[in-house]
Amino acid sequence: MVKIKNYINGEFQNALSGQTLESINPATGEVFATLPDSDVNDLNQAVEAAQKAQPSWGKQSAEFRAGFLAKMSLLILENLDALAEAETTDNGKPLWLSQSVDIPRAAANFKFFADCISQFSSESHAMPGNAINYTLRQPLGVVGCISPWNLPLYLFTWKIAPALAAGNCVIAKPSEVTPYSSFLLSEICQQAGLPDGVLNIIHGSGKNIGQSLVEHPNVKAISFTGGTVTGQQIAALAAPMFKKLSLEMGGKNATLVFADCDFERTVSEVTRAAFANQGQICLCGSRILVEESIYTPFKNALLEKVKQLNVGDPLQQNSKQGAIVSEPHLNKIEQAVLLAKKDGGIILCGGHKIHLKERYQNGYFFEPTLIENLDENSTTNQAEIFGPVATLIPFKDEQDALAKANATDYGLAFSIWSQNISRCHRLAESLEAGIIWVNCWMLRDLRTPFGGVKNSGVGREGGFEALKFFTEPKNVCVQYGE
Ligand code: NAD
Repeated sequence: MVKIKNYINGEFQNALSGQTLESINPATGEVFATLPDSDVNDLNQAVEAAQKAQPSWGKQSAEFRAGFLAKMSLLILENLDALAEAETTDNGKPLWLSQSVDIPRAAANFKFFADCISQFSSESHAMPGNAINYTLRQPLGVVGCISPWNLPLYLFTWKIAPALAAGNCVIAKPSEVTPYSSFLLSEICQQAGLPDGVLNIIHGSGKNIGQSLVEHPNVKAISFTGGTVTGQQIAALAAPMFKKLSLEMGGKNATLVFADCDFERTVSEVTRAAFANQGQICLCGSRILVEESIYTPFKNALLEKVKQLNVGDPLQQNSKQGAIVSEPHLNKIEQAVLLAKKDGGIILCGGHKIHLKERYQNGYFFEPTLIENLDENSTTNQAEIFGPVATLIPFKDEQDALAKANATDYGLAFSIWSQNISRCHRLAESLEAGIIWVNCWMLRDLRTPFGGVKNSGVGREGGFEALKFFTEPKNVCVQYGE
């Protein structure tokens, strides 16, 4: 049994209350780890440590801080196999995916912000009257980072790295559903020699330690990624305290497939966009809109591809799909499919839980599922399912596609598949989302603004956007003559 501990002031410790939670391997249904069920008393220790460490960390040169980030990046790569195995054990995603995407990206996050901070500059504005303004961008102090279970180390480090680079000290809370890789990251902090108190990693439930972190008066900002309902709760808690907030939330992304797309490539990429990581990526295209004139051939080709997504032991190289993260989430997906059927949806493939053999017979597996014949306003096409379930919706023309794509409360990431470059630009301008991919999906340049509109998010992460979030601009106006 793995015993996960909090990392506070450079030391490993249990929750002061002695309470623990359990972490389950979703591929087997077995408990493999315990983690601290931390509360406000643990948090107070962490905040105190972070407050003590912050003045000297914040005053150090950017190069000094970047040196630690670069070291952490290297150590993540050196420990790639162990981290990937931890991620897969905790989350159920295929090991090849942890090895090729999640862990390399966690390393890239640290390396990227180690480099990015050296390019971060502030503005100056000369003005009439012999005066000049310059803007200082100073660290906020102690900040909180709260992350979800779907890309555990990837998203955890995506917040921590810019916060640290900008000179803040951090209290970070990973999802209680997938705490293992962040625990291993605390060991990496020690190996890198990160000064005590600079990064504190606290485990526990959202309702308990997560909420306490948001409420703590000495935590100046919260960077959150997770569900929209949780984001609403955080916003309501933080608003009276005027806390700085970055909220990355849910999505119900549209994939727009036009008759003039590169057919074969589009079929492959749309499959990947819908089902990568068992459909548990906020960016997944779960509403596939297809131009009427190619609807049937596209549907048939997509069905063929989706049927090839074999679900199996996440440790096996040939398993295209692994386990769903938890039993409650598996049941939620099943309920969503039952509702789709009740509303008249036709299940083209999948639709059921899978019971694998032997060690995996109690695991949480679900068939990749394609559904058609549902109105764009149906619950299935409106509510985020966050699993291997996608719907097919025909459209008549560009205007119809635009209206159907935008007919959602969410606005995170849409993709357009067409060879008509003018159409792509037109749509990119009119689609209501923070991210538009044209003839690609999840192609990421870490310098670009990342985030959503509508119920998908407030604020942007990535590059200088993240460094701006984690700093406070202060204008200094100097008059140097009459
Ligand atoms: P969640 O909202 O349940 O939990 C996210 C984190 O918030 C966890 O660490 C949790 O413990 C914590 N939390 C829960 N309640 C809290 C509270 N009241 N106060 C403070 N913290 C609290 O989300 P999840 O189920 O872990 O993740 C899935 C969701 O995340 C999906 O909706 C998905 O779309 C979204 N997501 C969004 C992005 C993005 O970039 N927009 C990326 C990944 C996932």
